Parts: sequence; structure tokens; C-alpha cells
Amino acid sequence: MTLKDHNWSRRKFLKTAGIAGVGSVVAPLNGLVNASGQNEMVPTRPFGKTGEQVSILSLGGIFDTGSNQLMLRQAVNWGVTYWDTAHSYGGGASEKGIGKYLAKYPQDRKKIFLVTKSGAWRIKGLTRDLNKSLERMHTDYIDLFFVHGISSISEMDEDTKAWAEEAKAAGKIRFFGFSTHSNMEECLLEGAKLDWIDGIMMTYNYRLMHSDDMRRAVDACVNAGIGLTAMKTQGGGQVKTHSETELKLAGRFLAKGFSDAQAKLKSVWQNPNIASICSQMPNMTILMSNVAAARNKTQLSAGDNELLQRYAKETRSAYCTGCADICESCVEAEAPIGDVMRYLMYCNSYDDYKLAADSFNKISQKIRRYFPQLDYSEAERKCPQGLPIAKLMQEAAKKFKI
Ligand code: SF4
Repeated sequence: MTLKDHNWSRRKFLKTAGIAGVGSVVAPLNGLVNASGQNEMVPTRPFGKTGEQVSILSLGGIFDTGSNQLMLRQAVNWGVTYWDTAHSYGGGASEKGIGKYLAKYPQDRKKIFLVTKSGAWRIKGLTRDLNKSLERMHTDYIDLFFVHGISSISEMDEDTKAWAEEAKAAGKIRFFGFSTHSNMEECLLEGAKLDWIDGIMMTYNYRLMHSDDMRRAVDACVNAGIGLTAMKTQGGGQVKTHSETELKLAGRFLAKGFSDAQAKLKSVWQNPNIASICSQMPNMTILMSNVAAARNKTQLSAGDNELLQRYAKETRSAYCTGCADICESCVEAEAPIGDVMRYLMYCNSYDDYKLAADSFNKISQKIRRYFPQLDYSEAERKCPQGLPIAKLMQEAAKKFKI
């Protein structure tokens, strides 16, 4: 294809896509959302061996839940009843917003499968955070409590097990597990060997789900009866029409009546072993779009999946797969490469500078001071995605410095 043809295709495509633009969420499409359709609830799936049915779409709570009470109400009305938050989100504002909702609609508490997390390093901290979460959310119990963002199963030790059992016995939590966005495959595989993990939330998307390691890890958890929730399912953001494959991808899905963002959700739901997708839905447009995708029964075709795979391959050097064990062990001092890559993704792909900068500035000042100067050449050589790690670490240091 000549440059002229390419430009023409782009123009033609953008015209087809309309003023919403290719990268934006397109909703509702082909009548997928019927706002008054009370019977069209989001489907549910069993959550591991817990005996719970959860909505296949989970409301990710990193947004201003306090000012978006109507949206929370609408989520319940549409059957999005798996709610995910964390002690740290918005410095506690996310949990407080949920608490405001539950104080107003206490009858909805039983409908909601409520998840929160604590990033505390010690048992004492877990207890402190859990009690605070209960207080903030005006509830006596958490359905599923996660240790937040582990990168090694060694963080799930005997003390943690004893703590989880005690919290369950006290009726403060019903189920227990962890979330992970670093070294996910290993955390899942090792987590499946523990008989006290009920649920895991992990980074999982069309880029990661087809690898042998990820398949093995998911299978192990399924065999162990662990409920699985996928997060970061957009795999680094939306199609931006920079290449021909991107154009094809977005155009192909648009012709079928859904956006590329909806298609990426569908690709994850194709795996029946994933109980739910946790998605940040900070406004009604995205909530509607995701609900529409969850309700819609059209399956992705083999051709759709193939194109997604091709797109993943072509853009691999723009996506960090979270295999932090590989790169971080190549650097002479502690450098949270996997975390920093994720914060860059929040900023560059999800347009959430605040979340990125807040997360970045939680890295200790000492590490923030020295890491841009470290030698990353070996890490770059070993990175399976071929990421320019040194350049990206410097970019983050400049961008998020406060
Ligand atoms: S930078 Fe490369 S090696 Fe490090 S976590 Fe990301 S993809 Fe893996």
C-alpha cells in the first residue's frame, strides 16, 4: 500500500468512525445498551470454589466514587455487582464513596460482592487497614480481601495465612487472596499450591493470555478452585490508528458493532475460567460501553483473534508484560522497573497523570533519586518485549517528579 492509499484509508476510516474518534469508547452500538432494559443484567460466573456467582464485569474503584453515586446506583441496576476498591485508592476516597453509597442504600450491600485490598507489609498493618476499610465503607464484612500487588508468592507466608483465618473466623472477611501485576504467571502457579487462597486478581489480556506460561498458571488455579479476576484487560490502551493493523482492527470491530475496547474485553471473556473482568469505569459512557459488551453474545471470530494477535505482536515493544524478575535482577541496585512501566502506562495509555504521578511518588525518595542513573543495558538485552528501559525510566523520573 502506498502512503497515499494509507492516508486515504485513514481518512475513510475516521469518517466511518465519526466524531467519536477511533480511540474513544463507542457506546451504545447496535442497541447493545438498553438503558431501560431491567431484565438485561450483566451475566454472572462462578467464582472458583467459593460457591459465589459474580458479575463478569467488575466495577474498578479508582475514581471519584463519592461524586458518582448515580453511577454506582446504575451499576447495581445493570447487575455490575462485583465492586473492587483498595485501602489506598484516592487516599481512602474510593472506599469512603462506596461507604456513602452503602449508608444510603444499605439494602444493596447483600447484592454487592465487595473487594478491597491492603498493601501493608506486616500483619499489624493488614488488621489496621481492614478495620479502616470496614469503617469507611459502613459494612461489617468484606467479601474478598486481597493483599495488594504481590510480586512473589513469598509474601503469602504462614503469618499471612493465620491472619486470613482469624479474619474469616471473626466474620470480617469471607474470602481471601491477592492481586498481582508483576510476575503474574509465577504468582498464580505458586498460589495454586496453597490451599488457603480463594481468589486472585491479575493482569491478564489479549497480549498475555495465549502464552504457555499463562495458560499453565490459569489452569493450575482453576484446578485448585481459585476464583480469577482479570485486570488491565486493555493491554496498554486503545487503538490509536498509527498503523495499518490498528486501522484494520478498529475498522473490523466497528463494522461488527463494537469498539476495539469492547473487543478486548470480549477476548478475555472468551476464557470461561476468568470469572470477572475488573475495569476502571470512571464515567457513565465507559460503564455503558462495558455493560453493552458484557451483555452482547457475539463471539469474536478466529479472524478477529488472529488480528488481535498480530496487533499485539506489532506493538509488543510498547507494552510491558510485568515479568519484573527478569529485568530487575539485571540491575545493580533496587529499581522497581515493572512498577515504573505500569505508571507510564497509566499516564501515556490511560491518560491518568494523577494516578501515575501519585503511584510513582510512593516509591521511596532514595530510590527515586538514584534510579535514573543506573545501567539498564543488561536489563534491556534480556527484556522479552525489547523495551528501551533506560529511556523510559528517565522519562518517568522527569514526568512524575514533584
Ligand atoms: S521491562 Fe521488560 S523485562 Fe521488565 S517487566 Fe517489563 S517486559 Fe518484563
